[in-house]
Amino acid sequence: MADGCSVRGGVRCNYVDRRSRPCTTTWCSAHWVTVGGKQYCRRHAGIVVALGGAPAAGGWPDVDNRAASLAAWVGRQIDSRVTPIFSRVAPAGGARLVNEPVRLMVAPAGGSRRWQRAWRLVDHTGVLNRVSIEVDESNDADVMARVDAELIGHGVPPWIEHRNLAAGSPDAEAARRSYIDAIARSIELVVTKQELVPQY
Ligand SMILES: [Zn+2]
Ligand SMILES: [Zn+2]
Repeated sequence: MADGCSVRGGVRCNYVDRRSRPCTTTWCSAHWVTVGGKQYCRRHAGIVVALGGAPAAGGWPDVDNRAASLAAWVGRQIDSRVTPIFSRVAPAGGARLVNEPVRLMVAPAGGSRRWQRAWRLVDHTGVLNRVSIEVDESNDADVMARVDAELIGHGVPPWIEHRNLAAGSPDAEAARRSYIDAIARSIELVVTKQELVPQY
């Protein structure tokens, strides 16, 4: 993560994680993001917004862990793609989409901490389809896509894998688009049953 802006009079990010560790980056007004009247760096602003301004059970995610912000970000990017997919497979009458915000799933017995953004198609009989984007804190660059319980794909986003891609450049933008598109298309293929899930 960048250390911040090299300007005087910047504002320190107000994020403090569950272990009481603060974010030490400082940003100018062009780069800080204000949420709930407080200034944050871009990543931590994303986490505060994604969690609705209140920490998950157990407190705010670790200051240097990108799992929550990555799950939230990819979730925002594919949200507009998941909705029409569910519209196509929804049975006539009564089914509705439940759009779940990012939440923390903690494995029993102190296991993994995984951040999940999910969409469910439900009707009076229960859950018909479920799509989720998950990022585990123990491997916080790997984005997993699930349909129902099945892992249908996973991968490291291009801006993390290829750090030499200049942020905002046409190449970086194209790589970002194709990464998001690949996730959305694999979800679409599985949800609409155009492709069988490979058996491992
Ligand atoms: Zn700046
Ligand atoms: Zn921060």
